[in-house]
Amino acid sequence: MIKPSGIAPAVLMEGIEKRYPAGDREIRVLHGVSLRIEVGEFVAIVGPSGSGKTTLMNILGLMDSPSGGRYELNGRDVARLPPDVRAETRGSVFGFIFQRYNLLSNQTALENVELPGIYLGMPALKRRERAVMLLKGLGLGHRLGNRPNQLSGGEQQRVAVSRALLNGGGIILADEPTGALDTARGRELMDRIHALHAEGRTVILITHDPSLAAEAGRVIRMVDGRILSDEIVRRKRSADSSPSTPEEEKWQGSLPAPLPPSREKNRLILLGDVMAALRTALRALRANLFRSFLTMLGIIVGVASVLVMLGIGEGVKQSLKLSISGRGANMLVIQPGSKTAVSGGMLTLGDADAIRDMSHALRIIPDVYAMQILRYRDRVYACVVCATSKDYPEAMARTIVRGSSITREDDDRRAPTVLLGMKPYLELFPTGDDPVGRHILINNAPFLVVGVFAVKGSKMDGRDREDDLAIIPIKTGEARILRNQSLTEIRVEVDDFKNVDLVQDEIRRRLMILHQVEDFHIYNQAAQLEAAKHELDLLQFLLASAALVTLVVGGAGVMNIMLVNVVERTREIGVRMACGARARDIQLQFLTEAVVICLIGGLLGVALGVGVAHRITVWDSKAVVTILPVLLSLGAAFATGILFGFWPARKASLLDPVVALSSE
Ligand code: ADP
Ligand code: MG
Repeated sequence: MIKPSGIAPAVLMEGIEKRYPAGDREIRVLHGVSLRIEVGEFVAIVGPSGSGKTTLMNILGLMDSPSGGRYELNGRDVARLPPDVRAETRGSVFGFIFQRYNLLSNQTALENVELPGIYLGMPALKRRERAVMLLKGLGLGHRLGNRPNQLSGGEQQRVAVSRALLNGGGIILADEPTGALDTARGRELMDRIHALHAEGRTVILITHDPSLAAEAGRVIRMVDGRILSDEIVRRKRSADSSPSTPEEEKWQGSLPAPLPPSREKNRLILLGDVMAALRTALRALRANLFRSFLTMLGIIVGVASVLVMLGIGEGVKQSLKLSISGRGANMLVIQPGSKTAVSGGMLTLGDADAIRDMSHALRIIPDVYAMQILRYRDRVYACVVCATSKDYPEAMARTIVRGSSITREDDDRRAPTVLLGMKPYLELFPTGDDPVGRHILINNAPFLVVGVFAVKGSKMDGRDREDDLAIIPIKTGEARILRNQSLTEIRVEVDDFKNVDLVQDEIRRRLMILHQVEDFHIYNQAAQLEAAKHELDLLQFLLASAALVTLVVGGAGVMNIMLVNVVERTREIGVRMACGARARDIQLQFLTEAVVICLIGGLLGVALGVGVAHRITVWDSKAVVTILPVLLSLGAAFATGILFGFWPARKASLLDPVVALSSE
């Protein structure tokens, strides 16, 4: 053993113990193993099955920590490092080659080789470049995109070797690497291992085959957790005395140098982590397409029902808003009688005059309705006649199709003029003659027809109240119809919606001066509709909450499947940890998977929800899906993923690397 002075040994172990608790006793697997391995040595560890070789290798490779003893790796005490540092050191110093290859089955050869690079924080391009170079070096250039099950055993092991070398492979740990290979493939692999050694790598080979062990420069024999012998052997082929084999020559110089064990993470690399986790997540999804879909179903239905419920509420609210603006939300109606007793009150034109000239009040429209008999020649028709101000058509947003409206002068003169609604017009003039300028009789008094209203209601059968009436000037009405009766109502049009309350208070004040008692009431349409909208808000909230419960149930489904996932993929987790994954890397990956499931489910749910909402009509209003609920429910799906993915992800990240790796 020639050791350049000043360089710490690669491995320095003193009195390493490994004990496992077994009930109230302990199983002692390693009994004080002491070992010194120099940089660049090729050491074989041999021994019968169960002698503790794998246990020792796990401790060597920082997959496991010893129960006692000292362990220095490259001069650094590593016996009791915190798990994350252990993972980082593991990933940057060691390259593992396993008997069972331990490739990730749903990743390509190239991706398997790239794996340690992800956890080392190697930039994606560099990672890929190195992986391709390694695979090409091992004659697998044409197999980059193949999955492990599309490769032969020998090819799989070559992929595993490439993976072990991605970080530079300062120390190669090979546990029975030829165990699953036939003789020829085993020989090939041994040649490669020699080549790696010849390049200056430290190689620790575990085997139960004495002839393979004899190829190493040094053989350590283990029995029952103890080192029985440790001897330097004359190598059959010594690297310094004989020329390299052609196989070795092909290798020399083609391999990347070991990387310094640093992990300088920046934000870009973190993004790379997320991207890699995302890709893995999508891959895992695809591998279990049907199951993934079933898992998503809860989320899909949850998100869709949240959207539909909010959509229905929104639709009803919007049509309510339309009807508010259609009817004039800025309209106050004063009616006689207190709110509780309708009789007794009396509204007069004097009252209407008293509330004129208020700020913010645009129009004051007193009116009185009375059922009257209308006649034209031999036609008789009974309908509501409304005596009102000339402002009525404009305030009620009525258009006139023939003639013109009643005028102020008509009012002042108490002129007997009448404006017919479509229904009485059609009844009295069935042939469609122009009625303007003709006289009809209202209650046997002649009135001059000045115009006809356009249809307001949609139904031409005249059931619409607003089409089945005739209007006359208010003072004419007062003289001929009212006869000391109260006005039916006084409408007050307010300039702006927000001033309605103000005007309402002013009206009350002025009328109270005249009336002394509140024998009138002011009907505030806007306030009522506003209250209705409030109730709708509450209803919408309740509906959406109920739908949210579905989403939560869906989330529980996701959690369930993620827990199953963790169990199923325990071995994969172990492999990732062997490649340097820290607990948080594993956590990030499983969390990403849960979030991806929920987000895809969320998107499908949005599609379903929008589709269903499109077909739904409640109380004559179409459900309306706006962007906010869509974002909200996607956000809820995302939160569900985080919430319900957290526990499984944490569970995965807390797995012991050795236990995970040895799971079936
Ligand atoms: P080898 O690799 O030499 O065949 P191992 O290191 O795998 O041997 O195992 C050595 C001994 O340690 C075996 O007897 C095994 O049963 C025991 N052992 C390994 N892991 C555990 C464990 N987690 N709990 C208890 N005993 C264990
Ligand atoms: Mg073993």
